[in-house]
Amino acid sequence: MSSGVSPVARRFDPAKVNRFLAALPAPDLALLAPHLRAVSLDRGAMLHDAGDEIEHVYFPHSGMVSLVAVLQSGATVETMTVGRGGVVGVTAGFGSRAAFGRAIVQLPGVAARMPRAQFHAAAKDSNAIHELAVGYNDLLIGQIQQSVACNALHMLEARLCRWLLQTHDCVDGDAIPLTQEFLGQMLGVRRTTVTVAARLLQSAGMIRYRRGLVQVVDRPALEEIACECYAVVKRHTDRLFPPPPGGDRDRLVPPARA
Ligand SMILES: [Zn+2]
Repeated sequence: MSSGVSPVARRFDPAKVNRFLAALPAPDLALLAPHLRAVSLDRGAMLHDAGDEIEHVYFPHSGMVSLVAVLQSGATVETMTVGRGGVVGVTAGFGSRAAFGRAIVQLPGVAARMPRAQFHAAAKDSNAIHELAVGYNDLLIGQIQQSVACNALHMLEARLCRWLLQTHDCVDGDAIPLTQEFLGQMLGVRRTTVTVAARLLQSAGMIRYRRGLVQVVDRPALEEIACECYAVVKRHTDRLFPPPPGGDRDRLVPPARA
């Protein structure tokens, strides 16, 4: 979007700042800046539930938020993951304000938050903000479409690798605080089923799992096993938000498989 470095990106390590904000030219970011407040994302916090009116837009700088579909039985399955490469609630600036699913913090971190109404007003005044929000909305639809196909057609082991990779992208370092119960909820399978898949990855030396902490040991091997969905989503995300030079973990994204 912008070739210049925004003030936000200057204040923070460009690889560790929210990519939506970092992609905005400085004058457009200045329209949002007075309304942005730093908030902590506490694990388990619900940013909104299904049916809620969305009041705030969140730009995570770190941590990870899951958007999950909630069924009448109470069963949940993740439809999307939002880390620093995404925004929670941004589409509420344009269309319906009612949340379709639940947004819940899975990995703690920090976000910039602003009222939905102020974001909407800024997007009316700024073509760059409007264009980026529309582009992000397309990306969001694409990611959900990919998740539908992934959940229906891809093997659990490949989905687990995809999920670990996208979660790895949201943390600094190689340790991801995750329980297998939670992994099961995200993948829509029983905990015991996840345990079997995780053991396979562990015995192949790709991860180490101990007491709620997954250690990524061999990321290239996870990229090899992951279904194509990780690379597809990453490619589209990087097109919308060009990664900073030397930033995040773009090094080894495999090409989409035929
Ligand atoms: Zn997949």
